[in-house]
Amino acid sequence: MRIVLLGPPGSGKGTQAEFITEKLGVPHISTGDMFRKAIGEGTELGKEAKKYLDSGQLVPDEVTVGIVKERLNQSDCEKGFLLDGFPRTVAQAEALDGILKEKDTGLDAVININVPREELLKRLTGRRICRNCGATYHIIFNPPAVENTCDKCGGELYQRKDDTEETIINRLEVYKKQTEPLIQYYKEKGLLKDIDGGQSIEEVTKDIGLSLGRDW
Ligand code: ADP
Ligand code: AMP
Repeated sequence: MRIVLLGPPGSGKGTQAEFITEKLGVPHISTGDMFRKAIGEGTELGKEAKKYLDSGQLVPDEVTVGIVKERLNQSDCEKGFLLDGFPRTVAQAEALDGILKEKDTGLDAVININVPREELLKRLTGRRICRNCGATYHIIFNPPAVENTCDKCGGELYQRKDDTEETIINRLEVYKKQTEPLIQYYKEKGLLKDIDGGQSIEEVTKDIGLSLGRDW
């Protein structure tokens, strides 16, 4: 299956992606993770992307579309994929349509995870990520068994630099202006599946499954 996970920062895309991609056996493609990796490795892409991630602005479309196109051309994407955090602008969505059209395919579903703004702030300020495997936790809503330690691999947990209140407010503004129009874009294409993301992690996972015709 070829799926896009849509939703504001903190709506649970990364958390849900871990489970869905394992169940469906497709790669998890997170543009945010790709940029953070490039920044960590100090590559040219990382140097270019850093200023945007630090301030909560979007990396320019040409750069972002370029890395996604390259990733989708890799052979593991032939069986499907789950895009998390891409597209984030109408121009990116149009570019994605073009990339898939060249391959004579298209998207199967766009899952739109809805969460109220106050809840997003609480989720993002308490988010912690594993430095080693990238698993996502929350200090209150989804804490690891041992403080600051990943349940899955024992790695150390860290707080993302852009998960401060000031940058979060910026990111939510950017979402509203640049990404929210995609809801209408995909609704018109008949691909949009609306999910109530304000429920527990397990309930959201179940609803996403049902929207894809799977009772997992
Ligand atoms: P996104 O990838 O959309 O930015 P994440 O998956 O990283 O969002 O989730 C943001 C934060 O909220 C994380 O700390 C995560 O543990 C927590 N979280 C995710 N889903 C839920 C949920 N249904 N209820 C409460 N907290 C959640
Ligand atoms: P995320 O990990 O999805 O929260 O993304 C973190 C940051 O990476 C964003 O605030 C942007 O700066 C950048 N980013 C991620 N995905 C995109 C995208 N599709 N387009 C532009 N910038 C992106």
